[in-house]
Amino acid sequence: MIETDIIIIGAGPVGLFTVFEAGLLKLKCHLIDSLPQAGGQCSEIYPKKPIYDIPGFPSILAGELIANLMEQTAPFKPGFTLGEAALSIIKTEDNKFIVTTVKGTQHIAPIVMIAGGLGVFEPRKPPIANIEAYEDKGIEYIIKDPEIYRNKRCVIAGGGDSALDWSIYLAERKIAKEVILVHRSSSFRGHLDSVQKVIDMTESGAIRLITEAEVTGIGGADSLEFVTVTHQKDGEIKVNADHFIPLFGLKPSLGPIAQWGLEIEKNAIKVNTLDYSTNIPGIYAIGDVNTYENKLKLILCGFHEGTLAVQSAFAHIHPEKKNVLKYTTVNGIQGF
Ligand SMILES: Cc1cc2nc3c(=O)[nH]c(=O)nc-3n(C[C@H](O)[C@H](O)[C@H](O)COP(=O)(O)OP(=O)(O)OC[C@H]3O[C@@H](n4cnc5c(N)ncnc54)[C@H](O)[C@@H]3O)c2cc1C
Repeated sequence: MIETDIIIIGAGPVGLFTVFEAGLLKLKCHLIDSLPQAGGQCSEIYPKKPIYDIPGFPSILAGELIANLMEQTAPFKPGFTLGEAALSIIKTEDNKFIVTTVKGTQHIAPIVMIAGGLGVFEPRKPPIANIEAYEDKGIEYIIKDPEIYRNKRCVIAGGGDSALDWSIYLAERKIAKEVILVHRSSSFRGHLDSVQKVIDMTESGAIRLITEAEVTGIGGADSLEFVTVTHQKDGEIKVNADHFIPLFGLKPSLGPIAQWGLEIEKNAIKVNTLDYSTNIPGIYAIGDVNTYENKLKLILCGFHEGTLAVQSAFAHIHPEKKNVLKYTTVNGIQGF
């Protein structure tokens, strides 16, 4: 059981900055995220896009903002449970919450801050009837650890940056024994540089590229052994494979949090704007995941919400103590 002061569900920009604000009040945080890396939408959807409305930064790449937030929170040593969605929550007799993930990891704290943004990013799966039977037996929708593909035959499907970049990565570093990229069109949506690189690597034989085709079937005894690729002109081709990695993007949904007894409106959690508390005392909702009158889904608004929520959380945990606001310029950063 991981014990902390505040369990933060969602390691997006808002969850990360909340670690910093909580740290100033000497409250420890542990973040849970279903994605394998921190950063939420900034890391998953637009890491290379410049953001122009972060105070003090005329322009900053979303990925850089996350790197900076990680550096800013580091003195407060947050814990991370990554690659695991928070599934259930129960209240203990002594008014704490136990949050359990899909993998059974348990966390306990008196405060839960939901910074779940648009929700859990669920993979878009190809319409193959028996696909679920092979999940984690050769089928993965996110590449968490490229080393599992060492010396394996990998079929990647997709036409965006993820499919292109991972094909290049696994082939260029000679991690996979074979990299086969299948895409239903002959044009790609990814960066031109990456497209050119895949074409060059196809010519050199490092990648096998099959365009105008889709993976339509999979099979194998205990784990994946082959995929069936249906080509628009040439028909079906059987391709031996240890892994099939469809990288068709992720779609967000509020997911299990919607069943936690919180007041939900339009797929978001209703909060009191006094302190961003929810209808359950001890549970707060900050950032894109909450809703209230005049809500703006902006990073800077989420930073403000997290800042006020931890002040209220402090009073909830230490009702006997009075918290006096201290400027960081005066007190500096007293890490843990
Ligand atoms: C293309 C694009 C451009 C944008 N440009 C700007 C801009 O210029 N300026 C601006 O201010 N905003 C911009 N935004 C919006 C901004 O990205 C969001 O407001 C911000 O990411 C919200 O941060 P968050 O931390 O609340 O949520 P998110 O970034 O969505 O992070 C939430 C995290 O919670 C996780 N999560 C959810 N449910 C669970 C669960 N049950 N268990 C575990 N983990 C869970 C998710 O995996 C995710 O990582 C843009 C958004 C997009 C898509």
